[in-house]
Order: sequence, then structure tokens, then C-alpha cells
Amino acid sequence: MVIARSIEALLEAKKGYGGEIGFVPTMGALHGGHLALIQTARSQNDHLVVSVFVNPTQFLEGEDLDCYPRREEADSKICELAGVDILFMPTTDQMYEKDELTIGAPLRGGYILDGAKRPGHFDGMLQIVMKLLNVTTASRAYFGKKDAQQLFLISQMARTYFLPCQIIPCEIVRDNLGLALSSRNAYLSVDEKRRALSLSRSLKRATRMVMSGNLNAKEITEEMRDVLADTDKIEYIAIVDRNFKSIGEVKIADTIILVAAWVGQTRLIDNIWI
Ligand code: AMP
Repeated sequence: MVIARSIEALLEAKKGYGGEIGFVPTMGALHGGHLALIQTARSQNDHLVVSVFVNPTQFLEGEDLDCYPRREEADSKICELAGVDILFMPTTDQMYEKDELTIGAPLRGGYILDGAKRPGHFDGMLQIVMKLLNVTTASRAYFGKKDAQQLFLISQMARTYFLPCQIIPCEIVRDNLGLALSSRNAYLSVDEKRRALSLSRSLKRATRMVMSGNLNAKEITEEMRDVLADTDKIEYIAIVDRNFKSIGEVKIADTIILVAAWVGQTRLIDNIWI
């Protein structure tokens, strides 16, 4: 495995690649969710590039940029064992110039839910993903459904800008109790981890209601709110179609139920695709 810390090193490492390149962008502190993306990408491509870059432009003022977990050595080992060809770990200077042109999130899809709570977050996210897709020249890029709105916006960007890269959605990986894996789970104390389980429990409750025939979004939301009483603050509970339009009634095979809530100082998100 080559560790590339600059654009030049990345280009040099992939010089002579003949086949298709799979790409998994991450912010590091790799866990089982990332690994599932990496393994899927490994099985579908000739070459595999993984990036670890904590992208400053997608963090808002006062967010956790400075304390975001950084575990370069462990990440390198995981990538090496998973058969990654190139681990791209650039510096911020390598990725950004001063006063550069920017990609903007769409005014509706980019400013509802997480975009409303974190205005500008998706602009920064799309900016870096656009750069990474271009510089890796990936044929396929892999994203988790865990960040459903992010996946939706990246798919839209690929379509809008005619990017020659297929965006591949990957299932959410959870621990044995149901908590969706996330690098930010490292912030949680034992008690907070227990209370964080109410996110996935609320989604399970919602799924049971749907399975028993109750498709009413308002009633499902109310039930979920009860389950989420264990968190410190609910940011949103949303029931949307696959285009992120709010819906009053769950449509089987065209619905995503999402939740964002705070447990202690940690903001958590989770969702389920119905
Ligand atoms: P991050 O490092 O948090 O920016 O995540 C990098 C990629 O891994 C994104 O596409 C995420 O959606 C995906 N990801 C993070 N957590 C999970 C998970 N629990 N299951 C599946 N994919 C995940």
C-alpha cells in the first residue's frame, strides 16, 4: 500500500493503473462502517483508493474540528489489511487554495434537516467530494446510507455535473446493540452510549408500526419522540421520500425515516430506509 500525502504522490502512485478505480472517502478514525465500504469497493474494482481527510470546510464555527478523532497509524493498518492500494492523506494546503471557486449545495435539499441545523456544512462537504472524485479519477465511489442526506446530495452533484463516477450507496453498519457506528461515538461515556441507543430504538419502533400497517407519519413521529426521551435534545425527526420531500404517509420502498439528537455534547444521526 502506498501512503500518499500530496496530490503529486497520489498521481504518481496511480500512474499506469489500467483498470477501474474504486474510491472510499473518509475522515478517518476508521470503524466497521468504513470497513464495509472498503470491502465492497475492494470486491468491485481493479484498484482501490481510500482517503482520510478531516475536511475543515464542512465544520461550522464552534463544532468539533479540533477534537475530531485522528488515528493515522491505526487507519493505515486497517487499510493495509483490507487490501487498499493507495491511502490518500493530504494536508489542508494540498486540498485548498485561497479564494477558490466553490460548489454550493442546492437551496432546498442542502438547507433542510442537517443542512438547516448546520448551514454551510453541505457546501464544504460537496466541495471536497468534488475535488476528491476528480483527483482520484474513480469509476465508483462508495458512501454510507448512515449519512443519507449527504448521499442524496452527492448523487445529485454527480448527476448535475455529469461526473464520470458511479455513486454506490452502502448499508448502515451497527454494533450488536443497534447503535450505528460512527467516529463520533468515541466521544460517548458508558451512560451516554446507553442513552444513544434510543436513536436506533426509535427507528425500530417506527419500523414495527409500518410493518403493522400504520403508515401515518405524524403518529410514527410521535411514537419516536417518546422513545427519544432518553436523549438530551431532539434536533429533528423526519419522514421523507427518497428525494427528501416531506411525506404525510410512509410509501413502502420510497421512504427514509431520519433522526438527529444530542446525547451530552455529542450530536448523533441515524436513519432507516423503508
Ligand atoms: P466519515 O468518516 O464519518 O465522513 O464517513 C465516511 C463514509 O463512511 C461516509 O460515506 C459515511 O456515510 C460512511 N459511514 C460512516 N458510518 C457508517 C456506518 N455506520 N455504516 C455505513 N457507512 C458509514
